[in-house]
Parts: sequence; C-alpha cells; structure tokens
Amino acid sequence: MALKFSIEELSNQNRTKLGREIDITLFRLIRFMDLERYLGRGAHGVIYDCGRELGHAVNPKTVEDVVKFCEEYKIGRVEIVNKEPLQIRVYECISCSGLPEVGETLCWFEGGFIAGCLEKILNKKVRAKETHCAGLGDDFCQFEIKIL
Ligand SMILES: [Zn+2]
Repeated sequence: MALKFSIEELSNQNRTKLGREIDITLFRLIRFMDLERYLGRGAHGVIYDCGRELGHAVNPKTVEDVVKFCEEYKIGRVEIVNKEPLQIRVYECISCSGLPEVGETLCWFEGGFIAGCLEKILNKKVRAKETHCAGLGDDFCQFEIKIL
C-alpha cells in the first residue's frame, strides 16, 4: 500500500480565494466517519495503517523531523516523555483534543503515523499503543512504543 498522491502533489492547490487552511471540524468529520459500518471491527487497524503509510511517506530522518512535521501540519505538539520504554506524548492532538470522554482511545491515525515515522528512523518494525487520550478523559495523548 502506498499513498495515491505524493505529499508534494497533495500540497498543491488552486484555491486563490479560499486558501489552504481548513477548520479542524472538517478534518474530524472525515476522521470520525463511521468506518466500522463498512469495514467492521478492523476499521481501527485500517486507520492505523493509513497513518503508518503516511509516516513512511514523510520519511523522517530524526525524531526532531517528526516533531517539526507534526507542528507544521498541526497534528499536535509531540514530546518524548520517557525513553525506556519509549513513551511519546501529543498535546493538542488534531483528532481528540477537546473531545468528550467516551471510554476508549481515539487516535489510531496518530499512533500509526508515529509508528511509521519511527520505523523509517530505526529501520525496525514498531508498534504504538495509545495509553492516554481525550477519549479516556486525559488532556493529552500518550503512546507507548514497542520496537519489534
Ligand atoms: Zn488521543
């Protein structure tokens, strides 16, 4: 699986009046479409894999590149809070920040993205499991990273 368009192609737009900014509401409407209805219980895994593919396409060389990308595209403010085990925290997450507690984690896309980025940096298989999330009542997201 690969991205249908390169990041450079996706970045091109001819919106002379509307410009390139969109509201976060629109992103979340798309992000939280009821994919389970079409994909069943595997929907979370599909969203995770899409994020992972994006991470591969971004192809960062360092964790610093990941932090910068996430800030530039306003995915969130990324911080490493622990090295062993590796724990990555995301403040102001594009998907869940400010959403109500729903008793489950929500940020499959971000987890996949972080895993995909780390796979490129480390050249190893990586799993990112979300342990904190607005969906669980936290005010940040946190991912525990397993290097396989
Ligand atoms: Zn989250």
